[in-house]
Amino acid sequence: MSGLWFTEKQTENFGITMKVNRTLHTEQTDFQKLDMIETAEWGKMLLLDNMVMTSEKDEFVYHEMVAHVPLFTHPHPQKVLVVGGGDGGVVREILKHPSVEKVTLVDIDSKVIEYAKQYLPNIAGELDNERVEVKVGDGFMHIAQSKNEYDVIMVDSTEPVGPAVNLFTKGFYAGIAQALKDDGIFVAQTDNPWFKADLIREVQKDVKEIFPITNLYHANVPTYPSGMWTFTIGSKKYDPLQVSEDRFHEIETIYYTKELHKASFVLPKFVKDLTE
Ligand code: SAM
Repeated sequence: MSGLWFTEKQTENFGITMKVNRTLHTEQTDFQKLDMIETAEWGKMLLLDNMVMTSEKDEFVYHEMVAHVPLFTHPHPQKVLVVGGGDGGVVREILKHPSVEKVTLVDIDSKVIEYAKQYLPNIAGELDNERVEVKVGDGFMHIAQSKNEYDVIMVDSTEPVGPAVNLFTKGFYAGIAQALKDDGIFVAQTDNPWFKADLIREVQKDVKEIFPITNLYHANVPTYPSGMWTFTIGSKKYDPLQVSEDRFHEIETIYYTKELHKASFVLPKFVKDLTE
């Protein structure tokens, strides 16, 4: 962070720069460089390996869209797994569904959990909820050891580099299929179509070979690369576009709505082309 500005290089030729009021914590953990900064525009922000993970001002978009699309698609989700997600935002959203009896979160880096709790209480505040079990470990291994266990699995990992590189492979998605119950659903964040089109195309191809229902939806996350973020959904039985009206019980959100649930699957042509 030079002076009072932080730049995330989103490609070799393009980045996002923001004014930093102060650095709250910085350390090299066993897995990644962790920075907690306070920005003038976005509030407190978690960085991992100099990549924006979450910010107080726009975190709700991503966390609501990862959680509510699969949880409203499944008719009665009870057991949910989050791979990654150590900042706690997805867990906070999952707990808004009364049918969910247990959320298991598996993040490889305990320091993310520790500092999210300390500096981002509005995001991480539910990690100590009695319905939540937090495990520190490799999500790839946890999936490999799980069979027919979860109704919904959400992969809220960092980019496919470093500790997360295995979380974007066909083998991992095959493991997810085994870890899910026979009517299970999974969602994974699958980056942006401007700079990671090949990744989205590859993941869609892999997931389609494993799940009978595969789709892609998107949301606007201003602090993520390009601001256009995608989510890949794989489902064994329930179609996210065939959710009956009475399924949508009231929950408190800022971004997600039942209309947006379906509209988010309407893709610009250059993005839809990546799914074919
Ligand atoms: N929303 C962010 C995004 O889309 O880039 C992700 C935020 S969350 C903080 C990402 C988490 O994935 C980090 O806490 C990191 O420690 C975790 N992670 C990376 N590789 C992992 C692995 N193999 N198993 C479990 N957690 C992993």
